[in-house]
Formats: sequence, structure tokens, C-alpha cells
Amino acid sequence: TEKRPAEARRIQANSGSQLRKPLCSLLPASMPSPSLRLAVVGAGAAGLAAARELRREGHAPVVFERAAAVGGTWLYASPAPAAAADPLGAAATHSSLYASLRTNLPREVMGFLDFPFTAARGSVVDARRFPGHQEVLRYLEDFTQRFDLYGLVRFQTEVVGVRREAGGRWAVTSRKLGEKGEQDEELYDAVVVCNGHYSEPRVASIPGADAWPGKQMHSHNYRVPEPFLDQIDHAQGDGTVVFQDGSSIKADVIMHCTGYLY
Ligand SMILES: Cc1cc2nc3c(=O)[nH]c(=O)nc-3n(C[C@H](O)[C@H](O)[C@H](O)COP(=O)(O)OP(=O)(O)OC[C@H]3O[C@@H](n4cnc5c(N)ncnc54)[C@H](O)[C@@H]3O)c2cc1C
Repeated sequence: TEKRPAEARRIQANSGSQLRKPLCSLLPASMPSPSLRLAVVGAGAAGLAAARELRREGHAPVVFERAAAVGGTWLYASPAPAAAADPLGAAATHSSLYASLRTNLPREVMGFLDFPFTAARGSVVDARRFPGHQEVLRYLEDFTQRFDLYGLVRFQTEVVGVRREAGGRWAVTSRKLGEKGEQDEELYDAVVVCNGHYSEPRVASIPGADAWPGKQMHSHNYRVPEPFLDQIDHAQGDGTVVFQDGSSIKADVIMHCTGYLY
């Protein structure tokens, strides 16, 4: 196993098409499929699927996960206290889920082909076709359990750098969260990057916004509606919107994002 294939390459799992190719198909045809030293960054849906496929091909990948649990986006988190001081989310949690979120795809198309996303069994079950987010997390936890992936995951371990070495291998630098400054560097034949797309909010650039006294937040940090309830007192014919605290603004548009009556 010391003779590593120079072709070991980085696979961007989120691109999909590469991920569907078995890793052995990325190696020269003449080579037997050796057990490679592989790293997967992230234990969300993509990282778990990648780890499962790599295991099936005889490898024992190391899965680096910044969080303390599997699930990625589906790991609902109340905004960390830091988020209150950082409402636009640069230091906020990974997940964008809000409390009442249900899937926007039917469960039949969300599951892995050989591990269908059927309603969980047990006391807390959401059997709806478009279930709440808790059901998706349960499904991913069941997947992890079923394919015995927990043992592959290094939890609360963040990858802070990946560097290509001269010989074609990858130097992966990680740090255990909570431990000050301690970083570890290891060499891998390939790295599968499954770090997700939806954790770094894009914020509009508005000149003067920093000095604006009102509340600003990105939807990434939205969780529950209660803090926004009944804030508008009334609107006036001159274009003014008056709030309950007595303040007012001139508004051109009132956009009703208030859901449906059903
Ligand atoms: C609000 C919202 C609703 C959605 N609804 C649906 C839906 O209904 N149906 C659907 O199919 N899809 C939906 N999606 C898409 C969703 O992104 C996918 O379902 C899926 O969660 C993507 O999985 P992933 O593994 O690519 O990324 P993620 O789930 O984001 O997982 C990435 C993981 O990588 C970890 N990570 C990141 N960086 C590092 C690092 N440097 N070191 C270590 N670990 C790291 C993170 O902690 C995380 O666990 C939704 C997304 C959002 C944001």
C-alpha cells in the first residue's frame, strides 16, 4: 500500500457525476484496486454517501466532521449566542434550517436508491410525503447506523487546509475543535470534498448599512416567527409605515411573506 497511484485525485462529491463513478474506475485499468488512504470532508448527506461507497470498494476513509453529529444541513441548530451579535451570519451555525421547515421534495426522490426514505418507525414519526426536517435527520442517522459509518467519522474536527504534494498525494490539515491551536497534518491519496453549499450567507452591499440602527439578519439565521409578530402597527396614506415602538419609515413596497390560510 506504500506505492500510491499518482492519479489519486480530488473528487468534488457535490458535482455528482464524478461521485457516481466508482473510485476504482479513476485508477489505471491494469492496477488492482488497492486500499487507498482517503479523506472525506463533511458528514452530511454527500459525505455519508461517499464514505459508504468508498467502504464498499474496500477502503476505510476518514470522515472529518466539524459538528458533533452527522446530518449537515439537517442538523437543526438554534442560532448560537454569537449569532445575535453577528446577525448576518458570518460566524453562525452551519445549518440554515428554520423550525417549521418541511422538505420541498417528496421523500420518494430524496432517498438513496438502495435505502429508501420511508417513514421512520418509533414514537416520533412524520409519515408525510413532504416531512419535517427532523425526519430527514433521522433518515440520515439511520443510514449512518445501517452502513456502520459512525466509526469512520472524526467528529468536531475541522479541515482547515488541503494541499497537493509533489508526489500527487494530498496533505490534509485539521484541528480538533475546542483544543487551542493544535493542528494535525496527514497525507491522503484522495480527498472527497463534501462541505456543503449553504452555510456562508451572501449579503447585499448597502452603503451606510453598518450605521443603520434597525435589525438586520440573513435568512440563514431565521428560526422562528415569534420575534417578528405584530411589529407593524399601521400604514398611512402618505406612504409611512408605523411600528409598535412608535418609529416609522417611508416604504415603497410592503411584501407580504406571511404564508397561507389553511
Ligand atoms: C433550507 C434548506 C432546505 C433544503 N431542503 C431540501 C429538501 O427539501 N430536499 C433536498 O433534497 N434537499 C434540500 N436541501 C439541500 C441540502 O443541501 C441537501 O439535502 C443536503 O443536505 C446536502 O448535503 P451535503 O452533504 O452536500 O452538505 P451539508 O448537509 O451542508 O453537509 C456538509 C457537512 O460538512 C461539514 N463541514 C463543512 N466544512 C467543513 C470543514 N472544513 N471541516 C469539517 N467538516 C466540514 C459541515 O459541518 C456539514 O456537516 C435544502 C437546503 C437548505 C439550505
